[in-house]
Amino acid sequence: MMAAIGAAKAGAKVTLLEKNEKTGKKLYITGKGRCNLTNACEPDDFFGYVISNSKFLYSAFYQMNNQGVINFFEESGCRLKTERGERVFPVSDHSSDVIAALNGQMEKEQVAVWLKTTVKSLLLDQEKKMIRGVQLTDGKKLTADAVIVACGGKSYETTGSAGDGYQLAEQAGHTIKELHPALVPLIVKEEWCKRLQGLSLRNVSIALQKDKKRIYNGFGEMLFTHFGVSGPLILSASSYYVKKYDHTPVRLCIDLKPALTKEALDKRLVRDFEENKNRQFKNALDGLLPAKLIPVIVELSGILPEKRVNEVTKQERNCLTEVLKGLELTVTGTRGFAEAIITQGGVNVKEVNPATMESKLIDGLYFAGEVLDLDALTGGFNLQIAWSTGQLAGISAAQEKEREEQ
Ligand SMILES: Cc1cc2nc3c(=O)[nH]c(=O)nc-3n(C[C@H](O)[C@H](O)[C@H](O)COP(=O)(O)OP(=O)(O)OC[C@H]3O[C@@H](n4cnc5c(N)ncnc54)[C@H](O)[C@@H]3O)c2cc1C
Repeated sequence: MMAAIGAAKAGAKVTLLEKNEKTGKKLYITGKGRCNLTNACEPDDFFGYVISNSKFLYSAFYQMNNQGVINFFEESGCRLKTERGERVFPVSDHSSDVIAALNGQMEKEQVAVWLKTTVKSLLLDQEKKMIRGVQLTDGKKLTADAVIVACGGKSYETTGSAGDGYQLAEQAGHTIKELHPALVPLIVKEEWCKRLQGLSLRNVSIALQKDKKRIYNGFGEMLFTHFGVSGPLILSASSYYVKKYDHTPVRLCIDLKPALTKEALDKRLVRDFEENKNRQFKNALDGLLPAKLIPVIVELSGILPEKRVNEVTKQERNCLTEVLKGLELTVTGTRGFAEAIITQGGVNVKEVNPATMESKLIDGLYFAGEVLDLDALTGGFNLQIAWSTGQLAGISAAQEKEREEQ
């Protein structure tokens, strides 16, 4: 949609082909239905949140940066607000207002929107290495001076992004960097994890490690599930995990008390135990941990649950501190694309001109959005990538006819 608007504003006659019965089906579910459409960070900080190929985005981002996106939506009648972590949402908290703004702009710029229209293949002049148009699944052929492939990735297939864009790119000779579900829950080996299903932990630190190599460090909120772990902190960690280690076992270390050093935590335990001296160990941790977590921690500490706390030795307390400061899990993989916020991998950006988004292999063929090998952390950065690359692809594609006529 942003590509169509960019191209139409730049003077092109544009047709948007959408397989669904309406536009913006994925946008509708973004940000839990509120659409975190960008991030109001300092523009130069944006690249720090991009996981794959941030440099490729320089031209696109400076053509339409986060402030540009904010201005675009405000001017299109969608008022915005900035929340914690500089996340930008519509004031209404309704993603439908973001979609309405885009539909409104497309109408204003006279973009022809064809719904329930699926592109099957590209029409290519292989000899001249030029695009000629597209063929639809109903057999119809549409000719065009330029084609922008913005079919999204492979995650949440029910929204329409079923990986068609990769097939179209391959048809044009492009290579696809290996696809991985990212910003996705992690599967863990330990059986005790299941007992914690539904437990959410706030203000914890996690470290993801392969042997001695740090893959990810972070602080925030996480959640236990029947298969493993999820929540904001884990989703971020997953993107670093799949990048290099997908499906290989790595260690996840959770620091349940990151604000306390081991010494301070030991002092706290001594105090708690003194206050509860006649209680059994298993009943003396209520002040320190959520109820659901206590039996697991008791078990992992190796201290007898029925032991009176005044009999717990210093050595045993040390074991407990170790568990509290470094609860260990083994990550063995991720959940699938159906649960992934984003697809990592995609059209190889080395084969796309970053200044225009045009294919380096086929004249007049452009790419934008998640179909490219670009992905970022949560916080509005993935949509920013889609807006920036879409706008640049649109403007560049609009110049195609002029170039041809020269
Ligand atoms: C649950 C969830 C929440 C998210 N929340 C956020 C968030 O709050 N902030 C954020 O920045 N990012 C978020 N994301 C990521 C973000 O939604 C995507 O990165 C972004 O939508 C990608 O835009 P796109 O235009 O490239 O692809 P898409 O939005 O997937 O759009 C591609 C479109 O192409 C259509 N299409 C596909 N194949 C064909 C074909 N052959 N013919 C015709 N049409 C076709 C599809 O139907 C679809 O409408 C979220 C993702 C998910 C799954």
